[in-house]
Order: sequence, then structure tokens, then C-alpha cells
Amino acid sequence: MKTKPQRLWAALALLALPASSVMASEAPYAIAIHGGAGTISKANLSDAQLKEYRAKLTEAVNAGYRVLSQDGSSLDAVQAAINVLEDSPLFNAGRGAVYTYDGKHELDASIMDGRTMNAGAVAGVSHIEHPVDLARAVMEKSEHVMLSGAGAEEFALTQGFTLVPANTFDTEPRYQQLLKAKAKIAAAEKVPQQAGLSPQALDYKFGTVGAVALDSQGNLAAATSTGGMTAKRFGRIGDSPIIGAGTYAQNGVCAVSATGWGEYFIRYHVTGDICAQVKYLHKSILEAADDVINQQLVQAGGSGGVIAMDQHGNIATPFNTEGMYRASRKRGEAPLVMIWREQ
Ligand code: ASP
Repeated sequence: MKTKPQRLWAALALLALPASSVMASEAPYAIAIHGGAGTISKANLSDAQLKEYRAKLTEAVNAGYRVLSQDGSSLDAVQAAINVLEDSPLFNAGRGAVYTYDGKHELDASIMDGRTMNAGAVAGVSHIEHPVDLARAVMEKSEHVMLSGAGAEEFALTQGFTLVPANTFDTEPRYQQLLKAKAKIAAAEKVPQQAGLSPQALDYKFGTVGAVALDSQGNLAAATSTGGMTAKRFGRIGDSPIIGAGTYAQNGVCAVSATGWGEYFIRYHVTGDICAQVKYLHKSILEAADDVINQQLVQAGGSGGVIAMDQHGNIATPFNTEGMYRASRKRGEAPLVMIWREQ
């Protein structure tokens, strides 16, 4: 007569599946992406534009999902998804980067590996087509976490990157946004004691892009890429390249990418705080992300949102603005694309 373990092995042999492959074949994997939050008014978005945004978000989330479904790493998945969005003029990253006050482009990006707690970031680069790729090179090929400006671009050359002309990122819609923002800033400056204009007053859309993923090996990763904020001052660095502000990932805890008014996200340590609440207060990813975005930031006056994922692939996408471009896809499911709270 067979003992219990012998019966189990006999059953598995019958299925012709070793125990390890049974386990791996059930491992969850998932990806979530964002394309920025802000005043995304339904009235101002035509059906054709809506279709374009949805199609690009679907393409990006599927690019990341494809990596995960082929047992690729969460790092490769977030990078693949972000590259699609960096190539699109619809989003404020890569091709669609916004203009600085003086009519230039200064791009920021970061990436974090939840398995190793390694991270890489670049700030204020003007000649890099895919800043998230350079952030990853900083993480993997340098002893530093963040490189900025000319130094980052010099490092890029040593890593085989091609420097593209600065006007690669020029687009007419972004230029018009700059002119409008500058006109509003100039008008506000005429009012005595007027404080700086809020993004709401500037009708600002945070078009930053980001991605978080869990792979079938259980590794979490997060990444973010942006042109920053329209009419930002020369040299201004936002939250997107700052680990713990715009991007954070730690295996067993969570992965988060943010979009919003960067100064608040830096001061409130947004992505780091969400993960800390999961880690130390044992909150669910939904509770932790909601606390920071819809309680703390709202009280402080900071606008924006995050995409956040826990170790099981559960996803939270809170935002305190009118909308946030986002998409997600879990193992075996169809992609989910959303812009407003209810579709
Ligand atoms: N967070 C970005 C920044 O402050 C802007 C954005 O999310 O669009 O640079």
C-alpha cells in the first residue's frame, strides 16, 4: 500500500507535471501603468482623442504584460511599458515632454528593483530619447543612484546611448500650453502679494508616465518618466526621479509610481510613505494609497495620484484630481483602461 506522499507523487506523475512547475504555473503576475493625472475634463476630450489615449495605454500595458507572460522580469516589464509611452507625444515624457519656462525640455526618470532594492535615476536630461533606459543604466552600470544634466548625458555616451537633438521633444500642443501658462503667470505677477500659481490655476495636466509590476518570480519593480511641469524654472527637479517620492519598490511590500504636483510628492515622501504604511502598519495597498493621496495630500493641498501594487498583485490607483490616465492587466485577464473614477 502507498503512503500519502507516495500517492501524491504518483498523482503528479500521472499529470506529468513536476511539483515545482505546478507552483510556478500558478504564480500571479500583474502590471499597472499611468499616463498622468489632472484636470482631464470629459467635455474637452473628443471621441477621437479618447480613442487615441485608450489605444496607447492598451499598447503600453500589453507591452509590459507580454514580458511578464513570457516569464520576464518586472524590471523589463515596467521599462517596456514606459518606452511605449515615452515614444508617444500624448504623454508628458520623452516625445511629449512639456517645456520649461525658457522653452527647453528637461526630462527626469527613475526605476527601482524591489528584489535588490537597487535604484537608478536621471534628472534634467535634454538629449535622451528614453530617460527610463538611462535610469536603468545608472542603476546597473554605475555605483550611483542619481545622475543629472551634462554628467548624466556623458555617462549615457559611455553606455552606448545616442544623444538626440534637443528639438526632438518639440511639439506644438506643448508649446501652446507653455504660452498659456506664461500668460497666466505674467498676469498673476501683476497682482501684489500674489503667491505662485497652483497647477489648478494653470489648468495643469500631469502627463507623467509610470509603471509598477509583479513578475512570476514574485519580484516587484516600479519606474516613472516625465518632462516635469510646464513652465518649470531652469534646473527644477520634481518627484519623478526621487526614490521614495515618485518611485518606490520593495519585494514583499509594494511598488508605487506617482504623478502630480512634484513639490508636494517630495515633501510628503509619497511612494515611500505608502510602502511604509503597508510594511509597518500592515495596511492593505488600497488603504495605504488612499490615506496618502486622498487624506494627507488633500489636506496639504497637493494634487495628483499613484498606481500601487502589493506582493500579491493587488492594485490601487487613487487620485485626487478629475482624472488619471491608467491601465492594468493581471495574469489571464484582459487589459483594463480607465481615465475617470467611473467610465
Ligand atoms: N510629478 C511631475 C513633476 O512634478 C509632474 C507630473 O506628474 O506630471 O515633475
